[in-house]
Amino acid sequence: MSAPSALVLTCGQCGSVAPHRVLRGKIGGGDEIVFEGVVKCSACGFVSSVVTREPKPIDVPLVVSWLDKSEKTSLEFSPEEDVHVGEALDLGDSRISITAIEAGGRRVDGAKAREVATLWAKRIDQVRVKFSVNKGNRTVPHEVLAAPDEEFEVGEIVDLGKDRAVVHHIRTRIRTVRDGQVRADEIVRMYGRIVRERTIR
Ligand SMILES: [Zn+2]
Repeated sequence: MSAPSALVLTCGQCGSVAPHRVLRGKIGGGDEIVFEGVVKCSACGFVSSVVTREPKPIDVPLVVSWLDKSEKTSLEFSPEEDVHVGEALDLGDSRISITAIEAGGRRVDGAKAREVATLWAKRIDQVRVKFSVNKGNRTVPHEVLAAPDEEFEVGEIVDLGKDRAVVHHIRTRIRTVRDGQVRADEIVRMYGRIVRERTIR
């Protein structure tokens, strides 16, 4: 393992908790990650020798659900780190929210990472927007994938792959929107009708 280029440390001179550039140093240790080296405070320029120790990260088993599928993976934590239901975390390029924690053989709302047997989470970087589309004599349910902060507008035409549909109104938990825009993560269901493509002759 190579030494990091900078560490956030409390400066022995000015007292600020600031990034310290690593001038030289090495990483070692068994159960812990031990850094020994010389660092320079970015706030005051003070140069000092330091030894820092932190516990080695652990891999916590993680089940991520997304679009009716569940995927087993794992996520790295510092052993003493607190994990809570509802917490949002990065997993690679996606963002997830913890939905359940199993620790000590039962479901808990929170635990230290080292106590956790399994974490369950759902992806929150994309949401499924339900869209009921009227196709003349019938209404067909569709789902549109969107970023949580993406907005849908009444009157907007949404591409459904084979078809396109215009949004008539949007239902949220508290109201029905007949004019204006709503964030994807606030939408309970959108209603619309199919757009007939005009044939140009
Ligand atoms: Zn300093």
